[in-house]
Amino acid sequence: MESHVEKLSEYDEHLEILGDRNSYSKTDHDAAFMRMKEDAMRNGQTKPGYNLQIGTENQYITDFALFPNPTDTTTMIPFTESYQERYNRYPDRQVAASGYGSEENYHFMEEHEIEPFVKYNYFHKEHRPRYVVNPFSPQGMYYNKEKDYYVCPMGQHMTPIGIKRGKTENGYPTESTIYGDVNCEGCPLRSSCYKAKGNRTIEVNHRLNAYKQYAAELLTSEEGIKERGRRCIEPEAVFGQMKADMQYKRFRHFGEDKVKMDLAFWCIAFNLKKYCKKAA
Ligand code: SF4
Repeated sequence: MESHVEKLSEYDEHLEILGDRNSYSKTDHDAAFMRMKEDAMRNGQTKPGYNLQIGTENQYITDFALFPNPTDTTTMIPFTESYQERYNRYPDRQVAASGYGSEENYHFMEEHEIEPFVKYNYFHKEHRPRYVVNPFSPQGMYYNKEKDYYVCPMGQHMTPIGIKRGKTENGYPTESTIYGDVNCEGCPLRSSCYKAKGNRTIEVNHRLNAYKQYAAELLTSEEGIKERGRRCIEPEAVFGQMKADMQYKRFRHFGEDKVKMDLAFWCIAFNLKKYCKKAA
């Protein structure tokens, strides 16, 4: 033990710096390793960085925040909270890509009366003109809402047999109903229906489905089509100007505080430059 004490305390130190993250950079303890779009070696090598989120309106940067996690889903709530801290109110609506469309995020927007113009993972696929819903999937089966049962393609009623509860990374509780109680033995559709052993069961998250349906209604409305069109020329255009036109591709400081300061000055300069150009 004595010979390992030094190494063990070194590991403790690493774990303390690491916190909830799964990596950190030795040269910048606040940066975590992520896959970058720029991949000169073409081997998916990870590099230390921050996940930068920006909010824009008419191509002016209204808010920004840096996150140590590479996925966007979990950044939406803290990012919207940062907007609330800055402006003392929540935005009226949020327009975002499908990476942000989770039950937790939809619930947060509902709680704060924010209109969710936010896509979910299968939104585009579902709205293709040639999209045909799979009759063996829960979406393709008839659902009787009053009596709470699904009808499988062979006409058997799938009734609730249990509840599956879970928690997201942020501790948000999720709940899915499991439907089953059918006899699949000898069913001629068995091979097309499912591959697992025993009788078939399906899991349905009704709350998430309701959120998705509401988001889809908004996104396909006249207003939604306009907002979706604007999304491509809002944050994406700002990122384009930032990275391609102005070559601001790397932070020049180490540590989150300094990086934030660097970025804040850059955003002020960017907004002023845009304002002067528009005013001229
Ligand atoms: S395999 Fe079972 S669930 Fe699938 S269609 Fe046949 S009876 Fe229905």
